[in-house]
Amino acid sequence: MNPKKNTLSKSTLIRSIQCSKSLYLYKNYYTLRDNAGVVQQQKFDRGHRVGKLAHQLFPGGKDCTPPDASSYNESIAATKLLMQQQHPVIYEAAFKYNGILAALDILENKEGKSYAYEVKSSFRISNTYLLDATIQYYIITKSGVELEDFSLVTINNDYVLKDSFDVHSFFKITSVMDEIRERIPFVEKSIGSAIDILDAPLIPEVAIGQHCTKPYPCDFQGYCWKHIEKDSIWYLPGVSMQEKSNFIEKGITTVHQIEINDDLNARQKVIIASYQDQQPFLQREKLRTFISNIHYPLYYFDVEAFQPAVPVFKGTKPYDRIPFLFSLHYKASETGELQHIDYISPVGEDDRINFIEHFLSATSGEGKILVFNTLMEKTILFKLSSDFPDYKNEILERIKRIIDVEIPFKELYYYHPAQQGSFSLKAIGNALLQKDEFARSQVKDGEEAMAVYNELFYEEDKNKTDLQLQQLKAYCKTDTYVLYEIFEKLKQL
Ligand code: SF4
Repeated sequence: MNPKKNTLSKSTLIRSIQCSKSLYLYKNYYTLRDNAGVVQQQKFDRGHRVGKLAHQLFPGGKDCTPPDASSYNESIAATKLLMQQQHPVIYEAAFKYNGILAALDILENKEGKSYAYEVKSSFRISNTYLLDATIQYYIITKSGVELEDFSLVTINNDYVLKDSFDVHSFFKITSVMDEIRERIPFVEKSIGSAIDILDAPLIPEVAIGQHCTKPYPCDFQGYCWKHIEKDSIWYLPGVSMQEKSNFIEKGITTVHQIEINDDLNARQKVIIASYQDQQPFLQREKLRTFISNIHYPLYYFDVEAFQPAVPVFKGTKPYDRIPFLFSLHYKASETGELQHIDYISPVGEDDRINFIEHFLSATSGEGKILVFNTLMEKTILFKLSSDFPDYKNEILERIKRIIDVEIPFKELYYYHPAQQGSFSLKAIGNALLQKDEFARSQVKDGEEAMAVYNELFYEEDKNKTDLQLQQLKAYCKTDTYVLYEIFEKLKQL
């Protein structure tokens, strides 16, 4: 639904602080927004679920959530009434001041005093969260409600799920009143600026820059970035946003205008020269040495994991990485047939022991295990080896056999301009193989695989679950197949 043109809320104020053009587009050209991707939507749903869970800290509350986004006036009236009745706990309490809306996760009324709590599904209190809290505090108090304290409710990093879930150990409550007081003048000023933007006759002129992704990825990037040419400095890889802004300030707007000199590091020189000449860069001897140490039989391995904010299995912590899927291609010899095996865990079950046993059985023969960027695989395998000591020695033996196929790319033994500065398996595969094996994949990348599997815990349609498990398997299989193809191509080079 289109937002009301002349009203502000906490989230639109945050938007305007990040970029005035974003607020204007949101209010006047709402349909130009990018669609929320799977990952973004999962983060939103996760935040919502964690917020609901925190209600258990203050049981017995009355919920003022509006039936839809256009019914906030009902929530405001309901909140007012409950406060007059001195109801002890109100969830999703709503307030309005000077046309600006704010909803609060939990409002507690105790002995004639009111206490505000806002829930965040993170471990850390960031500056953005403090700004959020200040806006809420400002609107609530200006609407006539006196607050005794304002706290952020975050997730406790040290929490471990025991036999049953303990909501009081899972969350941490931190008063942020001092931080709020410091930020009130800034918020007051920002509200004034946001009101001016709403009244502006034309779209504010704001150049693209760091603010398009920080602190939040802006959902008008599809609109603002579509006119940017492919050789724009903004797409220059291996250079920070700040350095790109510096180039723009000096009038250098395309990669071809950059002079290769000693102001650039070795990595930037290779990437920029390759981009300017449209020629691959190859350090043949280094690549030859890397390849010559790898002999058949070979396994090509990839693992996918999910990270539930609220631990679902005993002994795990918030956001622990739990493996649920692996794909393994295998080749016994140079001329041998390429074989494939995979394993996916049933949704909702603590299947880690089965997962380990399938992995160990599939890799029981000798041979190196090729992986693209070993960090994820090694971290997961080390964690499994410490959580399940009966399998420790065998898992450690597999870890010793792992070789990282990302090394020749990371170390620039080979760089292709079509990588466009990306060192992901997909970008390297597309550049090197001149085709996109992932084009038909329903799952875009590992982050999306994680989000999809995570959401299956809440999916009730069994057919949909089965379909998505098949899509996840297909994605992971493509991953190890591309890894195999990349390795074959490296040998030819
Ligand atoms: S994409 Fe960048 S410039 Fe465009 S509205 Fe968003 S933040 Fe502003």
